[in-house]
Amino acid sequence: MAAVVGVLALQGSYNEHMAALRRIGAKGVEVRKAEQLLGIDSLIIPGGESTTMAKLANFHNLFPALREFVGTGKPVWGTCAGLIFLADKAVGQKTGGQELVGGLDCTVHRNFFGSQLQSFETELSVPMLAEKEGGSNTCRGVFIRAPAILEVGQDVEVLADCPVPAGRPSITITSGEGLEDQVYSKDRVIVAVRQGNILATAFHPELTSDSRWHRLFLDMDKESQAKALAALSLSASSNDADVGSKNKAPDLPIFE
Ligand code: GLN
Repeated sequence: MAAVVGVLALQGSYNEHMAALRRIGAKGVEVRKAEQLLGIDSLIIPGGESTTMAKLANFHNLFPALREFVGTGKPVWGTCAGLIFLADKAVGQKTGGQELVGGLDCTVHRNFFGSQLQSFETELSVPMLAEKEGGSNTCRGVFIRAPAILEVGQDVEVLADCPVPAGRPSITITSGEGLEDQVYSKDRVIVAVRQGNILATAFHPELTSDSRWHRLFLDMDKESQAKALAALSLSASSNDADVGSKNKAPDLPIFE
């Protein structure tokens, strides 16, 4: 049965994700309510404006259900604002911050590359994507008031990074926990990662005609379904073993 990909449709580029899924023959459904998460195999959280999206998600009481969905191990992909949603920690937020879904062991900076005016496109080196989905070793990265990932945990695989644009004002990372501020001083910054069932990109593949990121995500879906099936047949065979042992004649006489 074809996997059903949910696309969180509160705000932002969900139509573009739906169109990208249609182009590769995948079934996408728009998700606006918690109960709709029960009927999908994987979820895309699109780009947009993460504060607005968080307000809408709060209004619809979606955060607990989204966290639960991430915890099921089903694939989840956040693009841009969606990446911010999935990060365990976000810096560069408006005062008071915003609620996050979390699950992705990283620190994200919300507007790392600057304001809307500093939006840009660039070629990104993506050897892992090319290895898995074929095609060129690079992809077009569309960065719109984009976030970037400053730090990742050890279980996070970095799929792409990019040079920090020259002349970009230095970023001070305030922990907010009484620890010292740090200045981001590296010359490259992470823009695509995978951690188990979670995929995250700081840029917008849904705005290009390169469908390899969507294909990669569908492949994660297939992997997770295969795992679920294997787990099911394993538990069925261990049940069989149990039944077998129950049916086996006891070696000792049983006195009643
Ligand atoms: N920086 C934006 C935010 O904070 C995200 C931009 C995007 O999704 N294109 O939400």
